[in-house]
Amino acid sequence: MKYLLCLLLLFSCFGCQNSSSKLEEWMRPSGKVKVLSTTAIIDDIVGQVGGDRIDHLALIEGAMDPHSYEIVKGDAEKLSNAQIIFYNGLGLEHGASLRHQLKTHPQAIALGDKIREQNPDAILFDRGQVDPHIWLDASLWSETIDPIVQALSEADPQNTAYYQDNGNKVRASLLALDQSLSQQLQQIAPDKRYLVTSHDAFNYFTRRYLSASGDWKNRFCAPEGLAPDGQLSCHDIQKVMDHLSEFHIRVIFPEANISQDSIKKILSVCKEKGMSVTLAPKSLYSDTLPESSSDSSATYQTMMEHNANTLYEAWK
Ligand SMILES: [Zn+2]
Repeated sequence: MKYLLCLLLLFSCFGCQNSSSKLEEWMRPSGKVKVLSTTAIIDDIVGQVGGDRIDHLALIEGAMDPHSYEIVKGDAEKLSNAQIIFYNGLGLEHGASLRHQLKTHPQAIALGDKIREQNPDAILFDRGQVDPHIWLDASLWSETIDPIVQALSEADPQNTAYYQDNGNKVRASLLALDQSLSQQLQQIAPDKRYLVTSHDAFNYFTRRYLSASGDWKNRFCAPEGLAPDGQLSCHDIQKVMDHLSEFHIRVIFPEANISQDSIKKILSVCKEKGMSVTLAPKSLYSDTLPESSSDSSATYQTMMEHNANTLYEAWK
């Protein structure tokens, strides 16, 4: 037991050191553009486009919830050191202190709002609110490439051709990923493609990858709203119970880094009512990338493949 504790401590210290040395390096003047992204998902794509010509960092680390994230000690320095900040927008980063910093920074770019300007019909609404989870549709997420290339090129004009070339490669990779996710998930029989998770993160994913003959709205349901808040009413529970019965759903999916309390509550009500519904053995990733300490090669692309594989294995 002691040995196990020591090992855990060693690994967690190694993780801290890794992230603090990455931060120190990012804070140090290097002649490269300093780019800060709010989430790891945005930071990963920005890093793929900017390559070795930029210094990039994610503000919200690990398992932290981007919906409600508030500025902590040390964040003000990161925000003021950033020449460019990329954030999701569409209401994702709604913590008041972070929202204020994003509104007042001279070069903070809301990628989701850029997509909305170009392609307003692509944006979904849920319970009257704009749904920010655009990254869960890889084709829609590829529309962030142009504003990323544009902002990097404006800050660092001599590398414009490099950013454009990388942007084209990343876009092609996202569109190829989009095709392969679609092909994989459309192999599942339409009567099985009904997704239930913890919070309303998978509307874009469902529309893109789980629809059958254009029908998708009934194919996704979650007890918690657009931001995971864990506050469940009887109405929320009843809505999910009715949905499980109506569509003969037998498996529901936990989300990594999101409390499982709400879906465990649903499972216990299912048990009371004699419904055979089980929890999928693997979690889906919604708002965060897999932790870098457990899988240092985690990217946006591998996260999306993980989600599709997890659904495919559970439903096939
Ligand atoms: Zn979310």
